[in-house]
Amino acid sequence: DRLIEPEKKGNEDVIDRAIRPKLLSDYRGQPHVKEQMEIFIEAARSREEALDHLLIFGPPGLGKTTLANIVANELNVNIKTTSGPVLEKAGDLAAMLTNLEENDVLFIDEIHRLSPHVEEILYPAMEDYQLDIMIGEGPAARSIKLDLPPFTLVGATTRAGSLTSPLRDRFGIVQRLEFYSVEDLSHIVSRSADFLSLEMEDEGAVEVARRARGTPRIANRLLRRVRDYAEVKADGVVTAEVAGSALDMVDVDKSGFDYMDRKYLLCLIEKFMGGPVGLDNIAAAIGEERETIEDVIEPYLIQQGFIQRTPRGRIAQEFAYKHFGFPIKDA
Ligand code: ADP
Repeated sequence: DRLIEPEKKGNEDVIDRAIRPKLLSDYRGQPHVKEQMEIFIEAARSREEALDHLLIFGPPGLGKTTLANIVANELNVNIKTTSGPVLEKAGDLAAMLTNLEENDVLFIDEIHRLSPHVEEILYPAMEDYQLDIMIGEGPAARSIKLDLPPFTLVGATTRAGSLTSPLRDRFGIVQRLEFYSVEDLSHIVSRSADFLSLEMEDEGAVEVARRARGTPRIANRLLRRVRDYAEVKADGVVTAEVAGSALDMVDVDKSGFDYMDRKYLLCLIEKFMGGPVGLDNIAAAIGEERETIEDVIEPYLIQQGFIQRTPRGRIAQEFAYKHFGFPIKDA
C-alpha cells in the first residue's frame, strides 16, 4: 500500500467528506476551471435550466468528485453518484436516470469504463432526455421510450483518450484539472488542519504540500500521518521540521517520491541507461503493472520534468539524475 497512492482508499470517507469543499469559492486552484464554471453555473441557474453536460478529466485525487458535488450544490439540485464499472447492465443506468428530478446532476465516475451497451443508453438520454430501452428477452422483448427530466450528466475520467468519440462529443463543457501548485496545496493543507483541530505553522503546511505530488488527496493523507506524529512526538504543533521528520519516517522524500518512484527512476537510469525504454520493459523490471505505471507513477514524474514519454519510450531527464546525485547523461 502506497501512502502516496492518489486513488481513493476505503476508510477515508468520514474525514474526507468533512474536509471536502462544498462551494466553488472554497475550491482552491484550477483558476480557469473555476472562472468558467462560475459563469456557466450562474447562467444555468438564472435560466432555471439544467447545466450542460460536463466532462471532467485529470489524474486521480485532483478534485473531480469534489467539483461534481460543488456543481450540484451551487445549482441547488440533487446529485446521484455512480461509476462506470458499477453500471453493469443497461437497466442499472435506466434505474438511475428515471430517479432523477428536474435539473439534477448524475455523476458517473470512471466514465471511460462504461460498457458499450450501457453507453448506448446514455446517448439519447444526454441528447434528447429520452430513455430508449429494451425490456424482456427473445420474442417477448420490446423497446420502450420514456421522457426523462432535463438533467446534467457529469462524467469524470482519468483517461480522456479512452473515451469513445460519440460519448465525448455529447459533453457541452469539458474541463481538465491540472496538478496543484505548492501554494494552493498548502492552503488546502491548512484548511484541512483546521478541520482536524491541528495546530500547524504555515511552514509546516508548505512542507506537506511540497511532498504531495500536486494532489490534494495525497496532501490530506500525508497530513493525517503528520498529525499522528505531531501528537505523539512533538506536543501536537506542526512545524516544518515536525512535518519533514514525519514524512521522512513514512518514506515520502522531499520530492514526494516513495520507494516505488525511486525504484522506477533508478531502474530507468541504471538498468536502461536513462532510456529510451518501452513501458513493458520497465514494468517487467520493477514488477509493477503497466496501467499502474502509466496512470499513477508517471503523470507526476512527467509533469515535474523527471521523465519524458516519447514514441521510442521513456527517457530520464536531468532532474532525475540530479535527484540521486548522478552525473547527467549527455543526450
Ligand atoms: P478525484 O475525484 O479527482 O479522484 P476528489 O474530488 O475525491 O478527487 O478529491 C480528493 C480530495 O481532495 C477531496 O476529498 C478533497 O478534500 C480534496 N480536494 C480536491 N480538490 C480540491 C480543491 N480544489 N480544493 C480543496 N480541496 C480539494
